[in-house]
Amino acid sequence: MNDIQHWIDGKVVASTSGRTAPVFNPAKGEQSGTVALASVDEVDAAVASAKAAAPMWRATSLSKRAEVMFRMRELVDANRKEIATLLTAEHGKVLSDAMGEVARGLENIEFACGVPHLLKGGYSEQASSGVDVYSIRQPLGVVAGITPFNFPAMVPMWMFANALACGNTFVLKPSEKDPSVSLFLAELLAQAGLPSGCFNVVQGDKVAVDRLLEHDDVAAVSFVGSTPIAKYIYETGTANGKRVQALGGAKNHMLVLADADLDMAADAAIGAAYGSAGERCMAISVVLAADSIADDLVAKIQERIPSVKVGAGNEPDSEMGPLITAEHRDKVAGYIAGAAEGGATVVVDGRRPEGDPGFFVDPSLIDNVQPGMACYDDEIFGPVLSVVRVHGYEDGVEMINANPWANGTAIFTRDGGAAREFQFDIEVGMVGINVPIPVPVSYYSFGGWKASLFGDTHMYGPEGINFYTRGKVVTSRWPDPAHSTVDLGFPETR
Ligand code: NAD
Repeated sequence: MNDIQHWIDGKVVASTSGRTAPVFNPAKGEQSGTVALASVDEVDAAVASAKAAAPMWRATSLSKRAEVMFRMRELVDANRKEIATLLTAEHGKVLSDAMGEVARGLENIEFACGVPHLLKGGYSEQASSGVDVYSIRQPLGVVAGITPFNFPAMVPMWMFANALACGNTFVLKPSEKDPSVSLFLAELLAQAGLPSGCFNVVQGDKVAVDRLLEHDDVAAVSFVGSTPIAKYIYETGTANGKRVQALGGAKNHMLVLADADLDMAADAAIGAAYGSAGERCMAISVVLAADSIADDLVAKIQERIPSVKVGAGNEPDSEMGPLITAEHRDKVAGYIAGAAEGGATVVVDGRRPEGDPGFFVDPSLIDNVQPGMACYDDEIFGPVLSVVRVHGYEDGVEMINANPWANGTAIFTRDGGAAREFQFDIEVGMVGINVPIPVPVSYYSFGGWKASLFGDTHMYGPEGINFYTRGKVVTSRWPDPAHSTVDLGFPETR
């Protein structure tokens, strides 16, 4: 049994809260460890450590902060397999997918290596006679990150790489469902030369989150998770005077026009719907199929499903693993059960018999889905793909734009004009053109619109740098004291 504790002030700290939660191996359905759930005092200790380290870290030169990021880049690169193996054991996703997660997280550390360039300000010489004006960006102080179970390595890297490089200190509250990776990343940051106190991990649940949201010494909160919690974090954090970016849930649609290459669209739908067992905020959960090709497309998706190899994440052949918990498996299975009752057609039913070991649901396909059905209206977050038949482009765009979520979307077509119109018309934060999971590279920013984002700042990339810094503008002059006079007028440029 793994005993998973906090990381405070540069070392593992055993919890004394007396509260714990079980951690599972989802492929076996067995408990593999116990994670501490922090008390208010333990959160306070982590924030105090981060606060004490902040003045020194902020004063550390840009090149030294970048040097830590370069070393962290090398360490994460050298430990890809270890990180992936750790997260597969607790999350359940297959090893190849976990390696992909580490690679996409690593991109953010690489971006943060460029912090000296990213923090360059502006300078205007002679803005007025003898007056120069320049802008600088400075860190906020202690910032917190609260992260979801589905990317236990990548999402923390989305946050801490830029936050630390900008000169902030960090307190991470990872998901209690797969907490071990956070401690490994803390060790790597220490090996990279990050001074103690700059990065802390408090394991925990709502108690820890609420304390971070109300703590006077936490300047900003980055959150990624489900929509109701994102809304709560945003409202509570901002009510307490903090800067908050809170990314929520999703229901991503893939519009397949009549001219699309149907084999390519079916391949893409399989990967985007069933990869990581659908537990991705950018997973495709709805295919909007133009009427004239819908039967063919459904047949092509259906014929591919049996070849998806479902199994434990650490088995080399597995392409899709289990879901995170037994409760989540049962919830996902409930949507398949409810679909037929609601009038949809269950084409492939991936529910397993009761007593089957592990938290598996096999790839499932539901046709003739309509808005108003639970399998359309809710974020299922499992390997269940719904097909809605639409008349064509306008009908599809109208449906996507009417959806309360707006994280990602994709269009499949061979018509460049339609694709360009889609990019213009669609009210969604991340758009794919013949790309089913359009997660932006680290030098752009990641985020949805509407109920998929609370606040106005997307995660990582340039918006991440802005989020973790405040602007300051300096107006300066070095006059000859001999010419000094009293002037009560409002300063004008001359
Ligand atoms: P979640 O909202 O249940 O949990 C996220 C974090 O919030 C965890 O650290 C958890 O401990 C904490 N939390 C949970 N309940 C809380 C409460 N009542 N009060 C305070 N804190 C609480 O999300 P999850 O199940 O871990 O992750 C899956 C969800 O995250 C999905 O909805 C998915 O779409 C979303 N997600 C979104 C993005 C994105 O970028 N938009 C990325 C990944 C995941």
